Amino acid sequence: MWPFRKRGPGAWLSFRREKVPGTPPIAFIETREIPWHPHTPPPPDEIRYHDPVSYQVLARSWRPQRFADLLGQDAVVQTLSNALGSDALGHAYLFSGLRGVGKTTAARLLAKAVNCAEGPTATPCGECDSCLEIADGSSIDVVEIDAATHTGVDQVRELQELLRFRPTRDRYRVVVVDEVHMLSKSAFNALLKSIEEPPPYVLWIFATTERHKVPATILSRCQQLEFRPLSNQAIRSHLETIAEKEGFALSPGAAGTIAAAAQGSVRDALSLVDQLRAFAADKIDDQAVAQVLGVPSFDVTASLVEALSGGRVAEALGIIRTELATGHDAAILYQETGRLLRAMLHLAVDPALEPGLTDDQRALIEGRAAQLGADALTRMLGLWLEQEPMLRDAANRELALEVAALRLARWPSIQRVERWLAGGQTPPAESAPPTPTATGDRGNDPPPPASSARPANLAEALWEKHPRLAGAIEAAQVSVESDVVMIRFGAEARASANYAGSNAVRKFLETACGVVYPAAREIRVEAEAVEESGGGTPNGLMTEAENDPAVVLVREIIGGQIVAVQPDGSG
Ligand SMILES: [Zn+2]
Repeated sequence: MWPFRKRGPGAWLSFRREKVPGTPPIAFIETREIPWHPHTPPPPDEIRYHDPVSYQVLARSWRPQRFADLLGQDAVVQTLSNALGSDALGHAYLFSGLRGVGKTTAARLLAKAVNCAEGPTATPCGECDSCLEIADGSSIDVVEIDAATHTGVDQVRELQELLRFRPTRDRYRVVVVDEVHMLSKSAFNALLKSIEEPPPYVLWIFATTERHKVPATILSRCQQLEFRPLSNQAIRSHLETIAEKEGFALSPGAAGTIAAAAQGSVRDALSLVDQLRAFAADKIDDQAVAQVLGVPSFDVTASLVEALSGGRVAEALGIIRTELATGHDAAILYQETGRLLRAMLHLAVDPALEPGLTDDQRALIEGRAAQLGADALTRMLGLWLEQEPMLRDAANRELALEVAALRLARWPSIQRVERWLAGGQTPPAESAPPTPTATGDRGNDPPPPASSARPANLAEALWEKHPRLAGAIEAAQVSVESDVVMIRFGAEARASANYAGSNAVRKFLETACGVVYPAAREIRVEAEAVEESGGGTPNGLMTEAENDPAVVLVREIIGGQIVAVQPDGSG
């Protein structure tokens, strides 16, 4: 999904890191790659590193050298430490989990733990020859194989040949097989015997990102340890620690975006930071992240969600267009919008669910999240996620994103239908101010003027306790005349008038009026007389149906034609 994982012609831009004047005279040229967008400004000609001679990628220089430093894998660490401490080590382990969460690192740590001169111990010294050689990958007794490139049965046979001999110096011959699920079927079969009856000096460690592809016969002979994806929060604070120790600036927003983009993989997060340092030197801020990762800034996504949730289509499309014009990917904008909706839902449910937001970000969306509420946000998020297949499969993703946005922007209308279903009448559109005329001017006689209080509040006061009545009241003209609350319905809303005037809802109406108009002493519900001319003829029915607020609303949302109208006897 992220551009930096897409390797393809033209998708990557290479540039050279050359000797910086004034540094020791060691000649070298190194090519690094950063993701390239057509609109990304070219990187500076000369990239300066703190130490241009020995710059090491962060994932290597920050590779944990002790179990205690392994980030976010407490269960794994405890299991292995217990086994080492009680001399109950298995002869084959399977480490499974997402890429970049520490499987290979843990394999090396385990190799050190068993082969350390002071071991076997859960706290290898890190100073003996074994520890040092394992750390830099040169130990003769620790073999690392990438099954992605050594898939054949011949390689497994060669390996078995090697395992016939005792380790040269250390206690164990440790074989680490990375991406073990890539082995061929025959290779697995050949492997099976070695795992079943291994010589006592052999320790197998398999690592895989896809455990379900490893045959059950292998799985059942291994002790399986599951590595968890890291939380955004854990990655974020790790990045902040590294930034502080390495002496470069990393804004909280940038750290959050990188952590989110890494999707649980600490290695991905660190290589992103590497890329960003190559691009923005020692100042990684929100803008640098937006440019290099192609991730829209939080403000942009927030204003997009703001426009969509308010049903402001033109504004939303404008934001999308501007974003895509700066070279950002439609799929990423879609994904980030979903992520923001999720964050808002979390905030609406319980602010503690979103520890990853910075204070600024929180302040930006908190109010809107509370206003929309958890129910509405759940529905909106669901609506947004439903568009994913379309976006994934579309040849024109920009168009697909626009369609997705248009659909979400219909949200206020959908809400109106739902209110109508609950209350029998259409409440005003969100954009219309809640004035008494908002629903009263649908082509019939203009409603009587002079409303003295805030009549919309009567409906609002009712929404909680009695949504159906509230819906009915929203179609009415409410005013206070001397000490009488007048609720007037148009001729087309006779049914609502009957309902609002019925004894069944009287109590609710009185309570709400008591709150909104404490001075009033009486409530009167009235409906205009039905026009007799043509009321019963088919044409009259058709006109009546066309003017019916519910029909108008349904046609507004789903389109369509009225084919036939049948009288139902109620008026
Ligand atoms: Zn050691």
